[in-house]
This record gives sequence, C-alpha cells and structure tokens, in this order.
Amino acid sequence: MFDKVLIANRGEIALRIHRACKELGIATVAVHSTADESAMHVRLADESVCVGPPAPKDSYLNIPAIISAAEITGADAIHPGYGFLSENARFAEIVGAHNITFIGPKPEHIRVMGDKIAAKDAIGRAGIPLVPGSTGAVDTLAQADAEAQKIGYPVLVKAAAGGGGRGMKVAHNQAGLAEALSTAKAEAKAAFGDDAVYLEKYLELPRHIELQIIADSHGNVVQLGERDCSLQRRHQKVLEEALSPALTEKERAAIGKTVSKAIDRLGYLGAGTVEFLYENGEFYFIEMNTRLQVEHPITEQVTRTDIVREQISVAAGNRLTFRQEDVVFRGHAIECRINAEHPRTFRPSPGAIDFFHAPGGPGIRFDSAVYSGYKIPPYYDSMIGKLIVYADDRPHCIARLRRALEEIAIIGVDTTVPLFMDLVDDPEFQAGDYNIHWLENWLAREG
Ligand code: ADP
Repeated sequence: MFDKVLIANRGEIALRIHRACKELGIATVAVHSTADESAMHVRLADESVCVGPPAPKDSYLNIPAIISAAEITGADAIHPGYGFLSENARFAEIVGAHNITFIGPKPEHIRVMGDKIAAKDAIGRAGIPLVPGSTGAVDTLAQADAEAQKIGYPVLVKAAAGGGGRGMKVAHNQAGLAEALSTAKAEAKAAFGDDAVYLEKYLELPRHIELQIIADSHGNVVQLGERDCSLQRRHQKVLEEALSPALTEKERAAIGKTVSKAIDRLGYLGAGTVEFLYENGEFYFIEMNTRLQVEHPITEQVTRTDIVREQISVAAGNRLTFRQEDVVFRGHAIECRINAEHPRTFRPSPGAIDFFHAPGGPGIRFDSAVYSGYKIPPYYDSMIGKLIVYADDRPHCIARLRRALEEIAIIGVDTTVPLFMDLVDDPEFQAGDYNIHWLENWLAREG
C-alpha cells in the first residue's frame, strides 16, 4: 500500500479521498490555490502545498507545480479526484514518468475514452450497444447531411472532446442542420480547443442510466449496478438515484454482464462509469468516464462498498476485496447536488456562509467541505455539498430526503435546497416516472 498520497483536487472530493486514505493508514498531502488557504481539505490533510494563484489553469491544472509538490513531500501516489486533471492522459503519463502512481486507469484508456469517437469505436468493438450515429467525425455540411439521412432526424451534433454538456446541438430536420453543426463546432472549439464533432441519433425520451465498474490488475472486474441520472438541467446532473426505478432485475443483470465482459476485454484498471441512454427497454452507450464520479456515494450506499478505498488499493496493485457474487443490492439511495445557486435561475451565489448546519440521523450522509464562516470562492464550481440519503426502499428514501432537506441550514448564500424541497413532493418524481427532459419541463412549469 502507499505511504503518502497527494490529492490533486479541492472541495468535497478532496475530503472524500482524504478520508479513504486515513482509513487505510495513508498520510495525505493537499494542494491548494491561494484562494483556498483556509479550505477544509487543506486543514485536514497531514501536509499541504500551495500550487498557485486562484485561476484553475495556474493551480489545480498546473502540472509542473503539482508534480513538484509530490516530489517535495515524497508522495508515492496522486489521486486526481474528478474534474481538473482526472481525465488528462498526459498528466497520468507524466505522473508515471516521475515514478509516482497515478490512482486511476492506464493512460491509454483515459485517452481513448476522452475522445468520444474513439470511445464509441472501442466500446462498440468490445460488445456494448451504441447510439446509432456517424462512424467518425463529420466536418462539412455535405458530410453531415449524408450521415443525418442515414441516421434519420432528429440528430444530435456532439463534440468529440465533449464534457459538461457543452458542444451539443440538436437538428430536428435538414433545415436546422447547418446551424447545429456550426454552433456545436464553435462551442467545442471554445470549450475544448478542438472542433471535431460527430452525429448521433437524438433519442427523444430516454433515461440516463450509468453503470459503475471497478477492476483490479489481476483480471477481476466487478460491476456495482446502475445509477439513474435522468434528472438534468442543460445536460448536467441535478439528482441521482441508485438503483434506477425503471429497470427490471432481468435488464439489470443483462446489462451488468455485458458491461463487465466488455471492461474485461478492454483490460481496464480502476474505477469507471459506462454511461447509457435507455429507451423502450434498450441501452445505448454514450460515453465512458475514466474516473471517480460525483455521484459514486449512492452506489456505495446500496452495495455497502467503499469505491475510493478500492480505487486506491487496486492502484497499489492489490486485488479487489470483493467479487461479483459478493455484491448484493440493498435498499435505495438518492443524491442531491446542493449548490450555491439560485434555486430557479441557477445563478451562482458565491460568498460567505454565515451559518451552516448539516443534516444527520439515520441514513444520511452529507459529503461537503464547507463550514460556518466559509467563503465560497468565485473561481470554481458552486457545489456546497452532496446530500446522500439511504433507506430500505424508495418511498422511505424520499420521505427521509424531505426530512433531511428540512434540517439543512445554510445562511448567507442562495442554495438549491428549495428546488429539491419542491421536487420531492412532485407525484411524477415520486412515481419514478421521468426522463432526461422531465426536469427542464418541470422547471418551466413550476418556475
Ligand atoms: P457530456 O460528456 O457533455 O456530459 P454526454 O455524452 O455524457 O455528454 O451526454 C450528456 C447528456 O446529454 C446525456 O445525459 C443526455 O441527457 C444528453 N444526450 C447525449 N447524447 C444524447 C442523444 N444521442 N440523444 C438524446 N440526448 C442525448
């Protein structure tokens, strides 16, 4: 096992990783920007190193500064968390070249899955069903038009380097294709510095269902079931559930087997998520995330596993501590992303949290890095914390969620708590009857 891990992240996920390290008897090194000097991840870590000014490109994305911090402190591994450098294959290679272990997949898998066109190709060949679409990138309008004719409208123009829902435009018919193509390309270029786009069939009313997997270097792959992340705004997840209220046990077992087999065939190492759209009983792969995800705790709750602990352990060359047959799904878990945002306009609301009280009691987990008096800096994402609720079944989980939302007190900034308060009382949400567009429609109706 490692002696010391450098955590190349901030906020709640830096704490989550710190906690796993402590329980494994591993010392931790925090890195931080000048804006995060008094952040909780810095206070809790055994050591900390300032890696630059507030802007992420100068600090949390500053590879030379982070490698220096690892060398100075003698860290033998780096955990990248999510976001920032977590899906940067070059970073993983540089870490390895300095004889430090990157806690994550092999660089080649990060690279392939980071290019959505290459990812679809690799995943398709490994036996996973795909969203029908163009075989490669489409460049010109003539090319796009030919592909769209084959696929059939509506089509979605998507950035090959995409992430965070950016660089994605729908064309409902041929007349709308030129604009979708040029805006998607422009958005992709601006967001990712790469204007390569491809075409996909636009599914009208799917759910977003993703499978958590984890693999060790001894040939063991375990799938930990699915998360339903259909409640989205602007293609960004807002609330997630495990397991999905939409799947039958038979469907769950079948897709689990397909995914495990494919991951095994790929020779993948570490934690990962295979994302699908699900419509009319069919699964369609959209992308694979080669990192820990924000919503991993709901899977931990229903499988009673510690994904971060296993992730660190398999990176150190150990075997997974459980096998597929040990994984038994029990109960229901829901996660709400509590952000410092206006609950209806979603305008970010950085600033001081004058008073903070976390919810507690049975079945409640609140993964957060804030405290009373903490000042949310304007430079990073607006997450305050993740409210994770677990109960024996879904109705009890929803009742418990409502109770926990009533307990939270966050004074000083706008939060998304009131949004979730309204959402838990909605009959369609309670029935589990929703798809990826449901929340946007609900917001338009209720707003
Ligand atoms: P990103 O990497 O930007 O998050 P994804 O490929 O994961 O992009 O897609 C994000 C979301 O966009 C999905 O959860 C879904 O809501 C929507 N989406 C993506 N592909 C399609 C598609 N082919 N049809 C309909 N919606 C889609």
